[in-house]
Amino acid sequence: MSIRIIEENCTGCAVCVRACPFGAIKMENDKAVILDNCTLCGSCADACKFDAIDFQAERGTGMGDLSSYRDVWVFAEQKDGVIDSAAFELLGVGRHLADQLGQDLAAVLIGNKVRPLAQQLIAYGADKVYWLDHADLERFNDELYADNLSYLVERYRPNIVLLAATVYGRSLGPRVAARIGTGLTADCTGLEIDVDTGNLMQTRPAFGGNLMATIVCPDHRPQMATVRPRVMKPLEPDSERSGRILRQQPQLKQGLKTRVLQVVEEAGETVNLLEADIIVSGGRGLGDPKNFTLIEELAQTLGGAVGASRAAVDAGWIPYSHQVGQTGKTVGPKVYFACGISGAVQHLAGMSSSDIIVAINKDPDAPIFKVATYGIVGDVLEILPLITKEFKKALGK
Ligand code: FAD
Ligand code: SF4
Repeated sequence: MSIRIIEENCTGCAVCVRACPFGAIKMENDKAVILDNCTLCGSCADACKFDAIDFQAERGTGMGDLSSYRDVWVFAEQKDGVIDSAAFELLGVGRHLADQLGQDLAAVLIGNKVRPLAQQLIAYGADKVYWLDHADLERFNDELYADNLSYLVERYRPNIVLLAATVYGRSLGPRVAARIGTGLTADCTGLEIDVDTGNLMQTRPAFGGNLMATIVCPDHRPQMATVRPRVMKPLEPDSERSGRILRQQPQLKQGLKTRVLQVVEEAGETVNLLEADIIVSGGRGLGDPKNFTLIEELAQTLGGAVGASRAAVDAGWIPYSHQVGQTGKTVGPKVYFACGISGAVQHLAGMSSSDIIVAINKDPDAPIFKVATYGIVGDVLEILPLITKEFKKALGK
């Protein structure tokens, strides 16, 4: 990709300066000048009426013949030598897509001394595992992992690359997509192949879950998507399955912008929100941080996890790791209790795919009731203890 100003065409109108979302263009002697922080988004070229910006959209990899891109890839996220369950879910849907296309399913495994994990990925459906092993790769690092995944993509030209919409996947996927110049659909809940074109149809909730958008990437490869955990089903593992494990040369470098010095596990985090079948979430309607004990007590009674709205997190009532929503975690439990939460679109974006939603709110017109399976209108501080008491009785606790 490239961009340059054609000075003889530039009239000094400065429309491009206003069009640039990154402040990466300025006027000097009545001529536009592109600055170093230009991201090559092309907005200025679209805005210019005088053809004064020569913007070449062709990316570094040179998409060329799209049919030369083959195979479905899954980024096999692992932490401390344990593969994230979301990677198995991706292999489940990836297997389906690869079979539809008549192509192979490959997993990309990056870490340190993670070779034993490769066989697990094969058992869950991978035909091949691209494996990179080095001490520097032991912990996830956005920059280094993006270097390595981009390198593999440029070298092997996969047709589809899937990552889980976890903290790691959401950071890695867009970096790689931007580097290689392709599109990425975030937070997908459905993936299918269009039988007419062979394109990947990537479905995700849009406008706060009010409609489902199906997105295609017809002109660029690979087609990249992050997929919400706990939406796709993993296959039954088959330890007899065989596949190829292909060791790759890690791409390492000095002077990384970030380094992980220490990992501190949060105390008291007993149940993982993403894994929980039952989540009890509290919002501003609790009125006081001490009332979160009511949420914790119900969650504990039911063996569930504690969630929260951003308002509760921003107020400092509970750590960010509990936040559910657009800028928090996306969850899909069997039962989600929303207690004193209004149901803003940003909150719904993270929990509306829950099987059953129970809302407790004193305002009968609160938007949360529009998505609730069961709604209780009343004071959460009175209702929560009653519910917890009944569950304790029923469960013999
Ligand atoms: P409020 O909206 O204040 O609602 C409190 C509710 O409690 C009200 O409905 C009220 O009727 C009820 N209530 C009050 N007292 C009681 C009582 N005694 N008994 C019962 N009910 C009671 N929000 C998120 O949650 N997650 C996100 O990830 C997120 N990301 C965002 C990203 C962006 C870019 C932006 C702009 C916003 C984001 N938000 C997010 C914020 C979101 O818009 C809302 O502000 C937030 O969800 C409100 O939290 P709440 O429902 O707890 O509080
Ligand atoms: Fe700004 Fe995008 Fe033009 Fe670069 S290409 S100057 S970032 S509008």
